[in-house]
Amino acid sequence: MQISTTPATQPVTDERLAEILADPGFGTFFTDHMFTVEWTPEKGWHDARITPYGPITLDPATAVLHYAQETFEGMKAYRHADGSIWTFRPEKNAERMAKSSRRLALPELPVEEFVGAVDALVRADARWVPDPEGEKSLYIRPFMFASETFLGVRPSHHVTFMVIASPAGAYFKGGFKPVTLWLTTEYTRAGRGGMGDAKTGGNYASSLVAQQEAYAQGCDQVVFLDAQESTYVEELGGMNLYFVFKDGTVVTPSTTGTILEGITRASIVEIAGGLGHKVEERKFSIDEWRDGVASGDIVEIFACGTAAVVTPVGTLKWDGGETPAPTTEAGELTTKIRQALVDIQFGRAEDTFGWMHKVV
Ligand SMILES: *Cc1c(COP(=O)(O)O)cnc(C)c1O
Repeated sequence: MQISTTPATQPVTDERLAEILADPGFGTFFTDHMFTVEWTPEKGWHDARITPYGPITLDPATAVLHYAQETFEGMKAYRHADGSIWTFRPEKNAERMAKSSRRLALPELPVEEFVGAVDALVRADARWVPDPEGEKSLYIRPFMFASETFLGVRPSHHVTFMVIASPAGAYFKGGFKPVTLWLTTEYTRAGRGGMGDAKTGGNYASSLVAQQEAYAQGCDQVVFLDAQESTYVEELGGMNLYFVFKDGTVVTPSTTGTILEGITRASIVEIAGGLGHKVEERKFSIDEWRDGVASGDIVEIFACGTAAVVTPVGTLKWDGGETPAPTTEAGELTTKIRQALVDIQFGRAEDTFGWMHKVV
C-alpha cells in the first residue's frame, strides 16, 4: 500500500503536548494526523493517505449514519524505556477487524495493510506516545464505515477505513480498585446469529441504556447474560470477565459467537496457564457467580480489555439483591496477571510469547 503524507501545518506545540501528556485522560485529545483509505468494488482499497487530523465532511445520506454498517478496533502503542515504540499483537486486531467486517458485509482490509496503516500513523505522531511512567500509552482507534451516499438498504459500495489516535492515562478514574457491576435482567447485548462477536458500534449502541441503568444504580459497568436462557454470564459492555477459584483454577466464559473475542482475554489464557494455573473456557452461570462468592470458592473476579487492561470486580448488584465483593482491594492473582501483561507491553519483561511489534 502506497501511503501519501500531508504533514500537519499547525501541529500542537511541544509545550501544549507536554501538558496534554501529563494528564491525557481517555479519548479526549487526538494526535496531529489521521490515516484514511477508501474502497470501492471497482478500485478495491485505494488513495491511502496520512493527513492533518480534522473533521470529515459527510453527506447527510451517508449509509453509516442510517444503517450503522461500521466496525472498529482498539489497540495501544507503548513507549519502552529506551524510547522505542511498540504495539501489542496488532495482527490480532487486524484479523478481528476482518472478521467483524465480514459480519457487517464490509470489505476486508488485508492484515498487512491494517498493520501498515497503524504503523504509519504511529510513526507520523511518534511524539504523542507518552513516556512509560504511569503506564500511559497511545490509544489507537482503527474504524471502517459505509461511506456511500445512498439510502437504499444494501452493503455500501463506498467504504472508508480510518485510524485515529489519542494519548491515554488510566481508563477508570478510581484507579486499580474493584468496580461495582450491575446485572441487567432486561437487556441483552447479543443473540445467536447476531453480531456479539463483531466489534461494531451497534453493540455499544444497544448497551448504552443498560449502562445508563447501571449508573442510576450507582454501578460502574453492566454485566450481560445470554439472550436465550438468561442464565450464563457473557461479558460487560466492552470487557471480558474472569473468575478465580480458591484452588487456583481460572474460568472465563467460552466464546461461542455472542461474546467479543478479546485479545486481552486470549492473552490472559496464556499468561495464567504460564503461571501454572488451570484455565477453563466454559459456560459460567450467574448462579455459579452468586454461590461461588457466597461460599468463598470464588476468591477474585476481574474484567479485561485493551483500554483498562485488567480491572478488579467487586460487588454485583441486580434488581432486588447483591452479592458481596470477593475482595475489597485488587486480588493477588488479578494484580499478578495485570503486572505480567503490562510488563510485556512496556518492555519490562521478556516477551516470551512473541507478542510485541516494533514500530519505531
Ligand atoms: C473490544 C471489546 C472487548 C475487549 O477486547 P480487547 O481485544 O481485549 O480489547 C471486550 N468486549 C467487547 C464487547 C469489546 O468490544
